[in-house]
Amino acid sequence: MASEFDVIARYFTRPAPEGTLGVGDDCALFSVPAGMQIATSKDLLIQGRHFYPNVDPEALGHKALAVNLSDLAAMGAKPLGCLLGLALPNVDESWLAAFARGFHALADAHGCPLIGGDTTRSVQDLTISVTVFGAVAAQPALRRDGARVGDHIWVSGALGAADIAYRLLDAQLPTDDSLLAATRRALEWPTPRVELGLALAGLAHAAIDISDGLVQDLGHVLSASRVGAQLQFDALPVADALQDLDHDTLVRAVLGGGDVYELCFTAAAENDDHVRRAAARVGVPVTRIGHVTEAGGLQVFAADGRPMSALPRGFDHFPGS
Ligand code: ADP
Ligand code: MG
Repeated sequence: MASEFDVIARYFTRPAPEGTLGVGDDCALFSVPAGMQIATSKDLLIQGRHFYPNVDPEALGHKALAVNLSDLAAMGAKPLGCLLGLALPNVDESWLAAFARGFHALADAHGCPLIGGDTTRSVQDLTISVTVFGAVAAQPALRRDGARVGDHIWVSGALGAADIAYRLLDAQLPTDDSLLAATRRALEWPTPRVELGLALAGLAHAAIDISDGLVQDLGHVLSASRVGAQLQFDALPVADALQDLDHDTLVRAVLGGGDVYELCFTAAAENDDHVRRAAARVGVPVTRIGHVTEAGGLQVFAADGRPMSALPRGFDHFPGS
């Protein structure tokens, strides 16, 4: 059987870019571009909580990095490199090869080389932890606390598909193979909006990536910025596959559904055209969904003009605590 060091050498050692010391020493070394700050973020993925043991390992490798790149995107940071922590119950070479393929393909696509990590045997189950590093100019970093009264609120891509796929796989919704086929990619192969984040740096005032649901994540921006917001439900970009769902399921998926990894951001109202052009330049659809208000709280208005009550809260690992 392959040793720990065989695993690292075979699947996780890649030539590091010029000027970078990658896998193989006690630490990795990389340079920070002059005048920039390091943006860094870590996500943990736990078997049974964030993924099913039978998930396609190539998709899992992709997603483990994608959710971290999405955090860099939400700060307007340019990826520099990443670390991978793996706790494996055993060495399954075909599983590792597929996982590494998914991981490295996305790393290559975004110039975010794997430069180090740690590999251990777990007592049971699989745990994956990725840390990313990016470079961001100190001033235009897209922080959560930058939203201003009167800003327009935008979201990239479409909402709701990942939540529906998750709920179908978890048997919370009745089996529907065609709906699963149409939504599963959104759950398993999310696209981090790195180029959009870079295009918005200096233009958007605040941004967040939607990991736990629009209402919850936009709520973080509003409370950090000490402002409120009004959204029009009918303006929200709903994933095509969801058009035939009943109203309650749709509302819950679009407002409360997590695992979206689209960007929600605010920008000055007079910059609508600049936002549209910046997004078009990087080929990402964006939709204006509402505006920032002075009063605290988030209101979502239904088609009949009335505010919707009991907005879905989104995901919380420790609800009620
Ligand atoms: P140490 O004993 O210093 O922690 P290790 O033997 O754990 O070193 O790791 C050896 C080298 O392999 C280090 O450069 C480490 O960063 C790298 N490494 C270990 N596991 C991984 C992994 N899963 N992905 C990428 N690099 C890894
Ligand atoms: Mg180690």
